[in-house]
Amino acid sequence: MLKIENLVVAYGGIEALKGINLEVEEGKIVTLVGANGAGKSTTLRAIMGLVKPRGGSITYHGADLLKEKTQNMAKNGITLVPEGRRVFANLTVLENLRIGAYYRSDEAGIKDDIEWVYSLFPILKQRSWQLSGTLSGGEQQMLAVGRALLSRPKLLMMDEPSLGLAPMIVKEIFRIIQEIHKKQGVTILLIEQNANAALHIADVGYVLETGRITLKGPGRELLANEEVKKAYLGHG
Ligand code: ATP
Repeated sequence: MLKIENLVVAYGGIEALKGINLEVEEGKIVTLVGANGAGKSTTLRAIMGLVKPRGGSITYHGADLLKEKTQNMAKNGITLVPEGRRVFANLTVLENLRIGAYYRSDEAGIKDDIEWVYSLFPILKQRSWQLSGTLSGGEQQMLAVGRALLSRPKLLMMDEPSLGLAPMIVKEIFRIIQEIHKKQGVTILLIEQNANAALHIADVGYVLETGRITLKGPGRELLANEEVKKAYLGHG
């Protein structure tokens, strides 16, 4: 579905990505894990067309994605939940969800999907008229995920959904990511520093270290990998 080959991205003279290869197969959950500054967000920025690579290619269903404009990504079925849960603070929860459906005109389907998001995150239903800026961090993250779902993505990309959230909420978010994947067959590319949680749910994991992919394998296999344990899973 999505294929990245020999991708090089540089900021000024410094290469943040030094020729990475990564593939996301349709229907899978793929995670890219790595420490601060490894280049995870840069990878997503390159896919979304927000930075121009110095070299390499990114294709989506075989078509050159580097030629696509960022604003066409959602139309193509690619949706990003950005880091830091950027919701529209001065709009209500419901208004934020509706913005996710901007490119859709199937009112009945949109209503169904809003109900679905409310069933995934009941707290959002209770808060539907609340201004989003006054939600807690965890609630804003749920809203950011919900808004992304309203675009009916084919490829849902998430940039560190667990960042800054309490362990209970992290658990809940990851459970829901799995549920979304199961129910709608959405393909997911998950960027995470929380390697433990991400590798548990991933079909395939990649480890990124200072701009290079150093390991790739089934999520469960990487969880058991000694190097990964030492570097990313604390004390295992
Ligand atoms: P984090 O988990 O901390 O978000 P990351 O893996 O997402 O890290 P990136 O944000 O992709 O890492 O950054 C990769 C490298 O590129 C870092 O060394 C960072 O300092 C550098 N970098 C990122 N954005 C820019 C920029 N706009 N200008 C210059 N350097 C940048």
